Amino acid sequence: MSKRTYGNEFGFQTRAVHTGNDVDGESGAIKRPITMANSYELPYDPTDMNWSSASGNLYTRNGGTNQKYLQEKLASLEDGEDCVVLASGVAALSGVFFALLQKGDHVIFSSVTYIAVYRLLNELLNNKFGVETTIVDTSDPANVETSIRPNTKLIHIETPGNPTLTISDIATIAEIAHRHGALLSVDNTFASPYNQRPIELGADFAIESLTKYINGHGDAMGGAIIGRTKYLDLIRAQSQINLGGVISPFNAWLIMRGSVTLPLRMRQHNENALAVAKWLEKQPGVSFVAYPGLESNPGHEIAKKQMSPGFGGVLSFGLKADHDIHNKFVSHLRVITSAVSLGHDESLIVFLGESDERQYLYPDRFHNGFFRFSVGIEDVEDIIGDLKQALEKVGL
Ligand code: PLP
Repeated sequence: MSKRTYGNEFGFQTRAVHTGNDVDGESGAIKRPITMANSYELPYDPTDMNWSSASGNLYTRNGGTNQKYLQEKLASLEDGEDCVVLASGVAALSGVFFALLQKGDHVIFSSVTYIAVYRLLNELLNNKFGVETTIVDTSDPANVETSIRPNTKLIHIETPGNPTLTISDIATIAEIAHRHGALLSVDNTFASPYNQRPIELGADFAIESLTKYINGHGDAMGGAIIGRTKYLDLIRAQSQINLGGVISPFNAWLIMRGSVTLPLRMRQHNENALAVAKWLEKQPGVSFVAYPGLESNPGHEIAKKQMSPGFGGVLSFGLKADHDIHNKFVSHLRVITSAVSLGHDESLIVFLGESDERQYLYPDRFHNGFFRFSVGIEDVEDIIGDLKQALEKVGL
């Protein structure tokens, strides 16, 4: 813990700047340094040391200083009791699943999630480890209620969901989960804690791919789980110490640095994405736009209830054109880069063709191929100008 603590009497932006940072005791530097060491000096007599302990400085896989500073900040920004940071968003997701689920347990998860969730739950934990899984369209909480079994241990939702931006009602699903003795985890990566805080809404865990908005600069990977210490201690012991999903001190430091400007970047992402979504909706060559900030979006009312001040920077859209034209359109873009990932400073687009094996789980309008577009913080006129000239080049 830093000597200076920043409780919730301070605003989100103040905590993004200060929490987890402190004056370095050795040098007097006003930024804490990176500790690029994997081992720490042992006490005079180490006989009784617990080599699998996460407390104290022992070995970086058990816990390092930079990861602790970042955990302190993220717990504060997500309004949680505790936080564990790991090597990637997927390490955070698998951390929750492996720590909480056992053979014979049942898990319900959203039909629209990042692909690794589907692989982890529906293939790995299900086929290899005997965990029962049910895939549900969680945009309607009634589907969750009817899928509950006596052995349901966990409900995992992603909202907005990757890649269709489907919205699920966190507070309502938390109430259902708790009434049936289950836990709720929410992948909050698309919204970031600036726009949505699942724990305030009743969830047990908020999960973030730090690789995305929280780092924000496209140069480091990380993941975080925020929740109660009694569960996070399990995740720390299993996923970090014994499965080895630890984050490097350098990545933790980079993410700590990137997260300082999270509120500023998110304001620009929110503003740019809404403007781009509204513009795209008016283009005759565009077949559909999915963005929770649009009034036309089926999840808009729920999104307004749980997301504030904005709806994030990711949207999806399709063209009234075939597969080849979608690819040609991308080849004409000059400001927007064709690449996976999202939440970077720069605009990123990815064409998701018709061959996605999970397409049957998506609404019909997503069945002919579409773009996932992470709207960056460039001048919005340049982003729209880039889309406009590329549409013209493909005759749309
Ligand atoms: N969750 C969501 C919603 C994502 O979009 C991603 C990656 O795209 C992940 C988790 C996984 O994060 P990482 O790539 O940091 O493992």
